[in-house]
Amino acid sequence: MQELHFREKINWPDGYRMAVVLTFDFQGGEDVKPDKNGKINHEEWTQGEYGPQTGIWRILRILDETGVKGTFLTCGAIAERYPEAIKAIAQGGHEIAGHGYHHEVARDLTQDEEREVMRKTIEMIEKRSGKRPVGWRSCTQSPNSLKLLMEHGFLWTAIHSLMIFPSSGKKTMVCWPSCPDTLLVTAESIPTEIPATPMTPG
Ligand SMILES: [Zn+2]
Repeated sequence: MQELHFREKINWPDGYRMAVVLTFDFQGGEDVKPDKNGKINHEEWTQGEYGPQTGIWRILRILDETGVKGTFLTCGAIAERYPEAIKAIAQGGHEIAGHGYHHEVARDLTQDEEREVMRKTIEMIEKRSGKRPVGWRSCTQSPNSLKLLMEHGFLWTAIHSLMIFPSSGKKTMVCWPSCPDTLLVTAESIPTEIPATPMTPG
């Protein structure tokens, strides 16, 4: 894997000054892990599950009303448990990308375990939406994450605060900064699958 660093000025097509990409982590209560006593904090769990139960439908309605497309970073288990929501996201023309299966902490996984998490998540999202995800974000990362994402054929990731373009042979994967001040990618490098809403030039 080779890292390519982008240092040039960004020129967006057709005179646009910037691109905005709306992304939503669609994880429900998957990141709520049991307390030391082995029990799940039920208040936190229900707060998390508000997203796939209720919030998702409100967000989809607003996006629909405003004609804006978004990207939903979805846990495999959420796709498994909320098939109707995944169907609605896909039917709305939005992108569904990966966000772990059970919101695993990547740095705690062996390389094989992390590879398996990605495989299962891809499989479930594809099963529910009919489309293989090409993007990935996890709230944590491991030293193996980039290599494994390349291995699974992802075109973009937003797990790093670094700005690099890992290239493997002919394939290049774009890494979006996860907490960006600026968006550092070339227009040519943006996979066409990523829904982006252009701003009016001027
Ligand atoms: Zn998350």
